[in-house]
Amino acid sequence: MIDMHCHIDLFKDYEDLIQEIDKLGIYVLSVTTVPSAFLGTQKIAKNCPRIKTALGMHPEVAHERVDELEIFNHLVPQAKYIGEIGLDGSPGLKNHHKVQGVIFREILAMVASAGGRIISIHSRKAADTVLDCLSETPDAGVFILHWFSGNKRQLQRAIDLGCWFSVGPAMLNSKKGKELATLIPKNRILTETDGPFAKAKNKPLSPLDIGIAQNQLANLWGIPKPEVNAMLLQNLSQLVQSP
Ligand code: MN
Repeated sequence: MIDMHCHIDLFKDYEDLIQEIDKLGIYVLSVTTVPSAFLGTQKIAKNCPRIKTALGMHPEVAHERVDELEIFNHLVPQAKYIGEIGLDGSPGLKNHHKVQGVIFREILAMVASAGGRIISIHSRKAADTVLDCLSETPDAGVFILHWFSGNKRQLQRAIDLGCWFSVGPAMLNSKKGKELATLIPKNRILTETDGPFAKAKNKPLSPLDIGIAQNQLANLWGIPKPEVNAMLLQNLSQLVQSP
């Protein structure tokens, strides 16, 4: 089982959660929202080899954390994964769109000069601009668009660009999300929960709920759940071997 995008450090009971994840053998990409959270988040999972910590700067808070770009730059060499980074074009963040773009481009350049990384990317209401940035910096590595919510044209553009996609219960519960997911090549999909931000039935999701996403994909693809799990594990192994 794989949760390719979740915020372990934001769970109140993260110690118990990590123990459960470890017991069940779930692979987790533990993304962070600010660079100053990276080392601490890495430390809480240091005994779990399947939990990988990613260095992030979430677009919703990036404008308040410009001074942490220095920390980001300092940590890139030791971070094997990057995320959550990206752009958020929501109207409520309108005053910050410009600085978000500056920060995102700067981060992609830092990651490119470090040789590229696997990156988990946020693109809500900003798919085209995100894809512009990614095409400008192909050396930044391998891109995973998390909870992609663009249109079909933008999805096709992302597929053509070689992007991967992590999909979860929240996305696959909506008609549009389901429709997009059927258009994504099966060998470029991974599962995610985006817990504790994303919810199902008003309850925050955690990596322990990743079976929900597997069931949804099993229904969508019309194949048994164990087969879905095997395909996703195969995808993950492909992904980590990508240049
Ligand atoms: Mn997230």
